[in-house]
Amino acid sequence: MALIRNSTLRPRILVVGGGYLGFVTARRLQKSLDRGEATITVVDPNPYMTYQPLLPEVAAGSIEPRHAVIPLRRHLRRSEVVTGKVTRISHADRHAVIEPELGEPFELDYDHIVLASGSVPRTLPIPGLAEEAISFKRIEEAVALRDRILSRLDDAAVIEDDAERRKALTFVFVGGGFAGIESLAELEDMARQAVARYDTLTEADLRFVLIEAMARVMPEVGEAQARWVVESLRARGVDVYLETFLQDCTNKHIKLSNGEEFDADTIVWNAGVKANPLLIDSDLPLDDRGRIRARADLRVEDDNGVVEGAWAAGDNAAVPDLSGGGVGGFCVPNAQHAVRQAPVLAGNITKALRGGSDFVQYSHKSIGTVAGLGVYKGVAQIGSFEARGILAWAMHRGYHGMAVPTIERKVRVFANWFLGILLGRDDSQLVDLAEPRKAFAEAADSKPLPKKPEAKAAEAKKSEPKKAEAKVKEAAARAS
Ligand SMILES: Cc1cc2nc3c(=O)[nH]c(=O)nc-3n(C[C@H](O)[C@H](O)[C@H](O)COP(=O)(O)OP(=O)(O)OC[C@H]3O[C@@H](n4cnc5c(N)ncnc54)[C@H](O)[C@@H]3O)c2cc1C
Repeated sequence: MALIRNSTLRPRILVVGGGYLGFVTARRLQKSLDRGEATITVVDPNPYMTYQPLLPEVAAGSIEPRHAVIPLRRHLRRSEVVTGKVTRISHADRHAVIEPELGEPFELDYDHIVLASGSVPRTLPIPGLAEEAISFKRIEEAVALRDRILSRLDDAAVIEDDAERRKALTFVFVGGGFAGIESLAELEDMARQAVARYDTLTEADLRFVLIEAMARVMPEVGEAQARWVVESLRARGVDVYLETFLQDCTNKHIKLSNGEEFDADTIVWNAGVKANPLLIDSDLPLDDRGRIRARADLRVEDDNGVVEGAWAAGDNAAVPDLSGGGVGGFCVPNAQHAVRQAPVLAGNITKALRGGSDFVQYSHKSIGTVAGLGVYKGVAQIGSFEARGILAWAMHRGYHGMAVPTIERKVRVFANWFLGILLGRDDSQLVDLAEPRKAFAEAADSKPLPKKPEAKAAEAKKSEPKKAEAKVKEAAARAS
């Protein structure tokens, strides 16, 4: 659809962020609204939605990266999709500023706004962190991390210096939450399988390290399951440090709060998330953690009551958890909430557009947790039912395979898994993705080939008549 910047023909619903919440909300709005009833505009810097729970499996090579993202334009045909960043929101004037990758920023008017900009990694002022670490929230990061770990195996296979080799093969993961444990476990599983293909490396050369500040990992599962996760990681050779902080990682030299120091070439930061800081540049009400203040019906509220025309949910919002769970009484930032909040949001906006006021309150009791820890390995907790190993792994794949939005993507993801079981995990890596012109630039820069003796002789012969001609001219000039 063409973008009509400031139309008064019909109301515009501006969806800020085409992630899990924004994408599913827009799809639901497309279905619930009549044609021409409203314009749905989705703005996101990425032209796709990322199904983040599959990132650890993308990194491990069990899922093709493109299959874990959903192209917005293909699946939001009745919406305007704008690839750009919302950089400012003035809700009092009902307009937002959008910055495309190329070209000038522009303003877009709206009637309703849906704040679905998610979260960003929560960092700490640790020396070296911003320079050396990578987080694990984007498809590009998952792909880069996979290629990096596999490249380090290649590098280490020919490094002779022991200290250098140890550094190349030391991978540090900070944060023992859901994302941290899954990414470490999947990548460790992949690396151990890959190392078997090297004559000069053994499993004992690999060092995976988990650093967690709390006394336990994965607050999403019960104590016994969390203890089992730590034990099973230790049994796989992972160094798990609990109640330990990363204090410094300048120049990839790790210093821990327990006094230990070592070098690590790869540092992955997974120590929590915070609401998208974009919200700070808006006149919308935020709580003390920077989240948009929302009611259970997903309308934004300030001290004076409802802020008309503003809606929020997902990771960037503080939505009361009516089920009685949640941290501090609010829904925790996870996909389980985002995907269920989206239909409530779309339904309530549709009602608001049609003059209704009997808005539905969002309430969902967590159904539990499933996590993959490598091929045939997992942990799950559904209420009081606990599963470990292959059963939990199958539950993890079954749940997430079905939860990926759109049938087309579900089919692709299940096909990946089927092929993986049939043919084995794909451990091919791509190098130089960040510098695709490198090879061409090197070719263009290279010295001309040294000439072969026959070519030199032929050239000399060719220039002989010219030399003779020059000599004749010279003699004639002297004579005159
Ligand atoms: C590795 C990993 C594993 C996870 N596993 C699980 C799991 O197993 N189960 C579970 O329940 N949850 C899991 N989660 C959490 C879950 O993915 C998130 O809670 C969920 O995606 C939140 O949805 P959201 O729409 O609020 O945010 P997101 O899905 O993050 O979407 C936010 C969108 O906003 C866009 N955006 C950002 N800034 C701007 C801007 N300025 N303008 C416009 N758009 C912007 C982003 O590009 C993004 O597309 C996991 C997360 C990670 C990182």
